[in-house]
Amino acid sequence: MATEIQQNLEKKNAEYASSFKEGHLALPPAKKYAVVTCMDARIDPAAAYGISLGDAHVIRNAGGNARDAIRSLVISEQLLGTNEILLIKHTGCGMLTFKNEDAHAVVEKNLGAAGKQELAGLDFQPFPDLEKGVEDDVKYLKESKAIPDSVTISGWVYEVETGKVRKVV
Ligand SMILES: [Zn+2]
Repeated sequence: MATEIQQNLEKKNAEYASSFKEGHLALPPAKKYAVVTCMDARIDPAAAYGISLGDAHVIRNAGGNARDAIRSLVISEQLLGTNEILLIKHTGCGMLTFKNEDAHAVVEKNLGAAGKQELAGLDFQPFPDLEKGVEDDVKYLKESKAIPDSVTISGWVYEVETGKVRKVV
């Protein structure tokens, strides 16, 4: 028996596929850039960031975290030809709301000793300051030997309250 979520996928996808005309798009992103942004459910990267289908890689994770995204960024640049990165964090991010020890305490409470052991020492990489979080991640990418100096990198904040982006660095 399909869950409600699964039924939604099948129904909405059937509608989408019935008028789909973009099957010809090439694998490498046409506009040769990658976006790193948060998995937050309130962000619609295609609409809010002006990304048309086939134009860019969109790498999403908790916090729009550059270190978490490095594997995908290297593949994006080295194998698929992108040469610019937009790092976009956002206001009201969940990653601003806890510390590592809080996350580890929840893990231990809900997942028990085995879960605690498996995740021991993991840095969940929360950040207490939004602008500084953007600056730190851009600095990390610019200093990373995995990212060529020829790659253009900028850092942004998206405001979930207004839908606006603003440049930080
Ligand atoms: Zn977030």
